Amino acid sequence: MVVGMSGVRLVASPNKRARRGEETLRLVVIHGTWMRDDAAALARLCDPAAEVSCHYYITRSGEVIQLVDEREVAFHAGKSAWRDITGSVNGYSLGIEVANSGPFLEYPDGPPAGVEQGSVDWAAAERYSEAQYAALIGLLRDILRRNPGILPEAVVGHSEVAPGRKIDPGEHFDWKRIKDGLTG
Ligand SMILES: [Zn+2]
Repeated sequence: MVVGMSGVRLVASPNKRARRGEETLRLVVIHGTWMRDDAAALARLCDPAAEVSCHYYITRSGEVIQLVDEREVAFHAGKSAWRDITGSVNGYSLGIEVANSGPFLEYPDGPPAGVEQGSVDWAAAERYSEAQYAALIGLLRDILRRNPGILPEAVVGHSEVAPGRKIDPGEHFDWKRIKDGLTG
């Protein structure tokens, strides 16, 4: 049985592990994919060699796709920390990938290593779509309702848990809209 949103399409990823007893859900990490194509992004998130995944993926048209059951750990944040959690927040979090090229439109398959840590032009970044914000707020409200251990302020960006290494979902991501959507 899959625990999560009803009515979402499933694209199961093998890149996951069981959640350990002490690993209670405490936060949600929002990502930008930095990839242009949904099929390519989903293929990477399901490729055992890539060893990356997420719980949910939101397409540019606002479709929500589930890749990993919420009761299992997805490999989305890598080396990361939040409050007293060190090493990686993966065990304690749900990961949501939002399809977006960010400031890397010239790299359809994502920026090469090191490019993300350089200077980037946020003004030229691909906008997140209206449909994506609506779908993301609906998904987050559902997650927070079902998981009282995740507080609204614990919805954070990848850049917040992996500073200096990751910059997604990016400066062009409208956090105020998300926070308003969660508290309204
Ligand atoms: Zn990320």
